[in-house]
Amino acid sequence: MEYYQPEIETASREELDKIQNERLRKIVKYVYDRVPLYRERMDEAGVKPEDVHGTEDLYKLPFTQKQDLRDTYPFGMFAVPMEDVERLHASSGTTGKQIVVGYTKNDLDTWGSMVARQLVAAGLTKKDKVHVAYGYGLFTGGLGIHEGARRLGCTSIPVSSGNTARQLAIMQDFGSDALACTPSYAMYLGESAQKAGIDTSKLPLRAGIFGAEPWTEEMRKSIEKSLNIKAYDIYGLTEIMGPGVAYECSAQKGMHVNEDHFIIEILDPETHKPVPDGQKGEIVFTCLTKEAFPLIRFRTKDIGTITHEKCSCGRTFVRMSKPMGRTDDMLIIRGVNVFPSQIETVLLQMEQSPNYQIIVDRQGVLDTLEVQVELTEEKFSDTVADISKFEKELTEKLKSLLGIAAKVTLVDPGTIARSEGKAKRVIDRRKLI
Ligand code: ADP
Ligand code: ZN
Repeated sequence: MEYYQPEIETASREELDKIQNERLRKIVKYVYDRVPLYRERMDEAGVKPEDVHGTEDLYKLPFTQKQDLRDTYPFGMFAVPMEDVERLHASSGTTGKQIVVGYTKNDLDTWGSMVARQLVAAGLTKKDKVHVAYGYGLFTGGLGIHEGARRLGCTSIPVSSGNTARQLAIMQDFGSDALACTPSYAMYLGESAQKAGIDTSKLPLRAGIFGAEPWTEEMRKSIEKSLNIKAYDIYGLTEIMGPGVAYECSAQKGMHVNEDHFIIEILDPETHKPVPDGQKGEIVFTCLTKEAFPLIRFRTKDIGTITHEKCSCGRTFVRMSKPMGRTDDMLIIRGVNVFPSQIETVLLQMEQSPNYQIIVDRQGVLDTLEVQVELTEEKFSDTVADISKFEKELTEKLKSLLGIAAKVTLVDPGTIARSEGKAKRVIDRRKLI
């Protein structure tokens, strides 16, 4: 069995606990001294850094969430001066939702080794060529995997996303050994390869490093078949680091969390108390070593489970399940974060009834987004030309706010089912979970 850093990846629970406790004490003091938001929240809660001795005291610390990052946009939660920040990244969130994160030189080094661990867990070595088809740019996917491939000593092929024909040509001509991209793009590449009559069993490609969005076991099987590879799941989020937070090993029974750098908690979303292994709850992360942007008890809104059971690969890091949904209503459509509330905002701005329904589906491998909007009686009595102008305007506004195109369907007043309880705004037919 190969590991990138065996001494830590297979360390005993006692050693890991010791590392986590030491680092937690240090980081709590660090953020208290450097980031006003933490100092204020901790003072309010009556917690001093010296009250936190180890993970058993985590519960005393206040939570952070995406809204805090928006409220302090762009750099209000940075813990170092900008001259020590070597790189900035931002979440793929659209207008008004974007958040910015920073990395010091050490943070980038750590990130590289976290990703190198997952590449090794996927069976790669420095002899391999890693084809990176995640987007390069502010999105953490491209440069994150790139950094890991560099760290491991692989040959990186920084293709970035898009231009499928070129991706396939490069895969064949350069002989990519591993492919890193979103699972939906991998599906699309697989299908396109088949259509183009490429015999993928003749290609060196043997591993896929896929994440950043939910995907199913069926998708895994289909990608593995069409590209003739073994597909590995990776989990990460911009706020915590980007790709490299957790990774699958050859056992493919959950993703090992890089516990020397992150603490994972699974909490009951109502009571905020930890739930036992195997039970679903909200995933909360604490960064133990980040310098520029260390988040403490960040509520990811992702729902998942963990297990401390021994893994056949020999790694001792706790394993998390695939996220099984979210506590908020965020949808990930074609890799873009979409909140129903954004659609509601547009409708209200245009003085329309907030009666709408979002229908997400998947045609072939591409997500589709349809917004059904109920016309007000007033609008309904407008001329056909006026209504079609309205439809066009709404389509444009939605596209500019969401960052992806939605098909707008106008329906007659009173036709969208009213609910007796919470309105059911979203119909997701993709069957991702
Ligand atoms: P971006 O959209 O820029 O990638 P985010 O940080 O907003 O960045 O995306 C992180 C979210 O993506 C996670 O909170 C989770 O919901 C989802 N995600 C990331 N990796 C996976 C994965 N392997 N499986 C399912 N969902 C994932
Ligand atoms: Zn394992």
